Amino acid sequence: MGLKLGTSGESFVLCKFHKIQTRTYSLKSGKVIPSETWYGEQKKKTKSSKVKEDQKISQTDDIISQKASDSIDVHIVGKGSKGFSRAVVINTTSTRYLFNCGEGIQRFFMVDKLKIAKIEHLFLTSNSWSNIGGLIGLLFMLENIGVPKITLHGPPNVEGISSMCKHLGQSDGTKLEKRLLTEGNYEDNNFKFQYVPFFRKKEKTDEAAFASKKPKLDSLPVEVSVAYICTPKPSIRRIDIQKCIELDIAPGPCLNLVKTGESVTLEDGRVINSEDILKPLVQSPSFIKCSHSGFLTPLINNEGLKKYQNTDENTPVEMTVDLIIHLTPEHIVKLPEYQQWINSFGANVKHMIFEDTFSNVMDDEGSKIQSHLNLLHPELFPLLPALTTPTSTLPDMTSNIITGENNLKYHYKPYTQLSRELITQPNLEDFQSEITRNPEITEAIDNFKQEVAKLKSEIPKDDRVYPEIVFLGTGASTSSKFRNFSGILLRLDDSKSIMLDCGEATISQLYDHYGEKTDSILRTLNGVFISHMHADHHLGLCGIIQARLDAFGKEKKDIPRLIVAAPSSMKRWINYIDGRIYPVSAAIKFFPLQRLKLEDKLNIAKLLNLDDFNPVDVNHCLGAKGLCLKYNGFKLVYSGDTMPCNNLVRHGKDCDILIHEATFDEGMEKEAKFKMHSTTTQAIEIGQKMKAKQIILTHFSQRFKKVPNFTNIHTSNVSIAFDHMTVRPCDYPYLSLLLKPLAVMFEDAIKINNIIKMKRTQKDALKLESEAAQVKSHSS
Ligand SMILES: [Zn+2]
Ligand SMILES: [Zn+2]
Repeated sequence: MGLKLGTSGESFVLCKFHKIQTRTYSLKSGKVIPSETWYGEQKKKTKSSKVKEDQKISQTDDIISQKASDSIDVHIVGKGSKGFSRAVVINTTSTRYLFNCGEGIQRFFMVDKLKIAKIEHLFLTSNSWSNIGGLIGLLFMLENIGVPKITLHGPPNVEGISSMCKHLGQSDGTKLEKRLLTEGNYEDNNFKFQYVPFFRKKEKTDEAAFASKKPKLDSLPVEVSVAYICTPKPSIRRIDIQKCIELDIAPGPCLNLVKTGESVTLEDGRVINSEDILKPLVQSPSFIKCSHSGFLTPLINNEGLKKYQNTDENTPVEMTVDLIIHLTPEHIVKLPEYQQWINSFGANVKHMIFEDTFSNVMDDEGSKIQSHLNLLHPELFPLLPALTTPTSTLPDMTSNIITGENNLKYHYKPYTQLSRELITQPNLEDFQSEITRNPEITEAIDNFKQEVAKLKSEIPKDDRVYPEIVFLGTGASTSSKFRNFSGILLRLDDSKSIMLDCGEATISQLYDHYGEKTDSILRTLNGVFISHMHADHHLGLCGIIQARLDAFGKEKKDIPRLIVAAPSSMKRWINYIDGRIYPVSAAIKFFPLQRLKLEDKLNIAKLLNLDDFNPVDVNHCLGAKGLCLKYNGFKLVYSGDTMPCNNLVRHGKDCDILIHEATFDEGMEKEAKFKMHSTTTQAIEIGQKMKAKQIILTHFSQRFKKVPNFTNIHTSNVSIAFDHMTVRPCDYPYLSLLLKPLAVMFEDAIKINNIIKMKRTQKDALKLESEAAQVKSHSS
């Protein structure tokens, strides 16, 4: 019997069952009766194809002969937004199959509480950056938890990306194994995946934005998109007792034969087929994605997909689709041709489509923190647009057209059901009422507001809003529900801005922060500074460059190049992406930080409208830099990642603001030194040596829940950063006053942090004790 899994725009997936073998069995004689029905002829065909199937199975992994999973569901991991491509996971008892892997995918897994370790296969519908931007981060995460291998299915030119990161692909790391499209369909114990590639000719206009330089990608005449047809393997079907009663069939051993697909002739002469008494087979969905209108005609005309069209209730199950998941952008789904194509699958097919959105607020807890902080100070902690715009309606469970949402699930086994139990919808009022109902926090917020008002009345009026610092990511090395990877947007004025580092999913953070205004902000972006080549600082660069180009519009020919000042080895990355994914180098002007001469610095300063651009060596990995810059009489210092660094102190003297990393807590100096980072206390000491007027700490270890341990900070010019915190010069005088109300708001999180810290100290003490005991036993 057959069933299909849906398709996803650039590509799509169908699932179907294998044909079940049919025989006739006499209860009386116990012999198999050759059937005169059409099954006879059909059987021969089945047999020959089965032999082929068996041969193929014997040549492939043992995994194929293992039992098929009794549980299958399709989970919408990300509904997609301007900064993040749609991603879907098929869950089985043993394995997860991920379809597409945009920047920020790990965060989605974290928020959705999906175990990332079970991912064994990644299917890409195309090799666009929006589909693969999260691949390196995913591999790092899988490597951390000891996953030995992940198999990559999809278009060419993607797998080599892991070689861009030194640590990946080494003997004990997670191996990225590519399965070529030419190797044919893939199957394991749960599914058979059929590859359906389709192509579009590259258009000249695609490269209009890169008019000044001929990109290498231009040499590829076509762009490949892949659809996948997934056929779940049949598992044992159960007998429908109600049907047996209706047909007056007594239970007995013969019914077990029917379970395996046999036909049974009863003593009264009736022939009972499996379909008469077995519960119906579950059906799976299909995924389709058509990311570019240029793929529309090839998709609609694809022969591999045509056979599932024009179906009705009489069509054999193997020729029908139960659900098609269209990962295609909304504006393409709305085209009349696409709508017609959707309808051509027949009235029995369900279609899941997605709305194009700007932001993708994925998590209740993260949104809740935003809304709480906003009560403290609405300018420092602006509300994310998604929290103030009406939420979309929940999917209608009865219609044939279902709107995809984060966490929507479609169950296939052991029952078929659309489930929205996991869908959450952030509600600003509910979130904020948690705070307004708490008298201690309300009092702390009121006191803060009074102190700010008093301070403002005592100092000269200051209404400077620029340069504005927007913290887009304030976490160290991994992302969490509350903090993304490093990324700071420095807005010099309303028409010029610079980015200081951009870890993975910085672009999503930008869209979350600015919503519909993001494109206009991206058009103000003149430059990006990458402090060093650790993945948490640079993996978002390609996404930013592409989004900036899109923001200018493909038709515009004179897009100013983005200044990228980064370590020399960033060039390797750019070359890789350039030749295989999209022509990035033509959109930027690259300055390798290790080889900057004085005239280059002057040139960059001029191009970025700065008075001074001065990258300085810091104590972290090889080639790591901090940055001192001057603009309009204002001096800003950014540490990047570093241990306490006197060189930074020397160059950063008397700055207006120091943004310093504070990865570790006070008392973790050993660990900080080992990993070449700073503790909060060390960072503050550096600021004091530098005579920085203001110090903002960032890059906090993700071991801390929600906030770092800041209650030991008693310095009057220090504050801590949060994702989306927006700091203007007029806010500086009262920044440090924030710590008091924050300590009340995050009291529980701080308690948890202290318990973690205590446990760690005890563990360290035990380790030291056992080391000492070992030394003693050796010497005695
Ligand atoms: Zn870092
Ligand atoms: Zn680092």
